[in-house]
Amino acid sequence: MLEPGTSVQYVKGIGPHRAAVLANKGIHTVDDLLHYLPFRYEDRLNPRTVAELRPGKMATIIAEVRNSGMFRTSRMPIFQLTVGQGRARLKCLWFNGTYLRDRFQPGQLVALYGKVDEDRRGELQIVQPQFEILGEASGDGEGDDVKAAASLEVGRIVPIYESAGQGKLTARWFRRIIRSTLENLTPDLPESIPAVVRARIGLVSPVETLWKVHWPDAGESITDLQSSRTPAHVRLIFEELFFLELGLELRRRQQKSQSGISFQLDDRVREAIKKILPFHPTNAQKRVLKEIASDMQTPFPMRRLLQGDVGSGKTIVALQAAIIAIENGYQVALMAPTEILAQQHFFSARQILENAGYRIVLLTGSIEQDRKRDIRRHIAQGNAQLVIGTHALLEEKVEFGKLGLVIVDEQHRFGVLQRLKLMRKSADEPAPAAKLDSKRGARVPGTDGEPDVLVMTATPIPRTLALTLYGDLDLSVIDELPPGRTPIVTRRISDERAPEVWEFVRKQVNAGHQVYVVYPVIEENQETELKAALKMYKELSNKTFTDLKVGLLHGRLDSELKEQVMRMFQRGELNILVSTTVIEVGVDVPNATVMVVEHAERFGLSQLHQLRGRIGRGAAKSFCVLMTGGKISEEGERRLDAMVRTNDGFEIAELDLELRGPGEFFGTRQAGMPDFRVANLIRDRQLLEAAKREAAAVVAGPSAEITKEERERAIQQMRARWRGTYGLAEVG
Ligand code: ADP
Ligand code: MG
Repeated sequence: MLEPGTSVQYVKGIGPHRAAVLANKGIHTVDDLLHYLPFRYEDRLNPRTVAELRPGKMATIIAEVRNSGMFRTSRMPIFQLTVGQGRARLKCLWFNGTYLRDRFQPGQLVALYGKVDEDRRGELQIVQPQFEILGEASGDGEGDDVKAAASLEVGRIVPIYESAGQGKLTARWFRRIIRSTLENLTPDLPESIPAVVRARIGLVSPVETLWKVHWPDAGESITDLQSSRTPAHVRLIFEELFFLELGLELRRRQQKSQSGISFQLDDRVREAIKKILPFHPTNAQKRVLKEIASDMQTPFPMRRLLQGDVGSGKTIVALQAAIIAIENGYQVALMAPTEILAQQHFFSARQILENAGYRIVLLTGSIEQDRKRDIRRHIAQGNAQLVIGTHALLEEKVEFGKLGLVIVDEQHRFGVLQRLKLMRKSADEPAPAAKLDSKRGARVPGTDGEPDVLVMTATPIPRTLALTLYGDLDLSVIDELPPGRTPIVTRRISDERAPEVWEFVRKQVNAGHQVYVVYPVIEENQETELKAALKMYKELSNKTFTDLKVGLLHGRLDSELKEQVMRMFQRGELNILVSTTVIEVGVDVPNATVMVVEHAERFGLSQLHQLRGRIGRGAAKSFCVLMTGGKISEEGERRLDAMVRTNDGFEIAELDLELRGPGEFFGTRQAGMPDFRVANLIRDRQLLEAAKREAAAVVAGPSAEITKEERERAIQQMRARWRGTYGLAEVG
């Protein structure tokens, strides 16, 4: 009998060599192998007859090879295969199909899957179908059925797996191996979801789940299978979401039970907060500050997410929170995702806070070593009250004398898992403070707790999704823009009309305003033929706008230069800033009223929205010009349309989520959102909510419904999963 934990190497038919190939796919154990799911299913129980085929539809057909061969067009070699069912014929083509030359023999039975279309003469064909050779036909046409029924390949709904090891381990191989693994699997798989939860959601058993997801019953709907809606799929999806939420919920509890810092909010502190305000806060700003302040007063560490669209005024709220901590004698760390943004926060914090006598320092990765050492000393001694930097602040183990509040800006750039790590780190970090104090012998046990953490994001994640995803955070939302903003006008225009755009730019500059011009790349390269910031900077400054001051900003400039350019633009010493997307987040120059984006078709939707968020920050009317050049994909069209249609960040986020899928949207690639096997956060929103609810009930403890053993088993399983899947060891 095979146990879930058994190494795949010991499964009959695998062995050490193939096990190594599987390991590359993340398959180490029997359990991993059984969770290697078909990416689609073929209905070979009711395959189409040639007569039933319709152009434009996907179809599976099973037929016999009649003949095959190569022919050439002027452009490429093409492999042609003709298959037949009785007298009916069907043609299949593979472009550049030389590799297939010797694959097929007349008489073989093959399964073909692909999109049916018509050739120039109106005859049906399938171009580039996926295929599987099912075996030799018996010749008399009669044995086919018998053989077919006996095999795993036909006469049923057949699972299709991605092959592995450059095609060495085929779909067919996986089918056999997984089948025999299931047959030899121990019948009593542990059940780690409590009975009451299973009943409420209607979950099938683990064994049934595994069997049916690989080998669906004959009656199962193909549509349900393809869209992961069968009971077996639902169980797998629920498992993924449930154990994620269980971890988040446990973490949330844990945080609540740690001791934090009770900041005092007396009249003196209130006065200090008010004094720094350069304008009247909006009602939304007042409300979220109240939520934050009340968290800060409690003896538990704050873990709060502040969400607000671009330009909604999150910075000032964060600075007010910082004042509460500082006035209580603590230090504050403010972390931004980019150096430019850190620098900008540094300028504006100085403008707002330095008159009041607060001590602010900037610490970023590129500051030279000597100065860095000074600054660090300053921080360690507790002199610096507000420390602004990139998240190198945490990575470089900066020691704080007395850290009370950590603010993470534009958290959407960090990603969920990275944030969890970040917070864990900041939770580990107060140790230096304690160390430092205990060295001096000044630390009184119990007086200093965990620092508070406030994370801010402009990504307006739909609220229910935010609550479930950021299940370990409390949520505050700024849902109102500062007064006096006129809506931004957005237009798309072909870059053939660039001269008109530049003329418009000139008019705006003459009216005293400033302009951003953004390019997708720094330098051009022949392949993409994209306009690039460097070249266009030269052209714009030397030809188009010889009389205006044009600056250039991109990621490869050294940080001092970046700072200088940014400062010049901020002071109005530059009329036009040519840039890459380094200005995407957070940059704040209210006098800038025009955002020209060249090759707008190349940018993501949220990215365009962020870029547009750089303008419309003052009272003057602002304009976003989306210039397009070259071919625009269908998705590109939808993005541009959306930008022209709406300024609403929520609407844009929803569409972006839909277009890109959750993985990309939340930055799985760079930042590590949990990479789900089956779950899809948008499609499975309802299951996600149910999972969160059930997880909370389980964490809340043994009850009439959930036994102590059930709770423990669930938590144990969650730990194993978090370690394996999410690479986070410490939860629960
Ligand atoms: P974001 O939420 O995108 O970080 P910022 O904090 O940068 O937005 O604020 C955007 C702009 O609005 C800044 O220029 C800021 O000074 C200004 N601002 C913020 N709140 C108000 C307010 N209540 N009244 C007027 N201007 C405000
Ligand atoms: Mg901001």
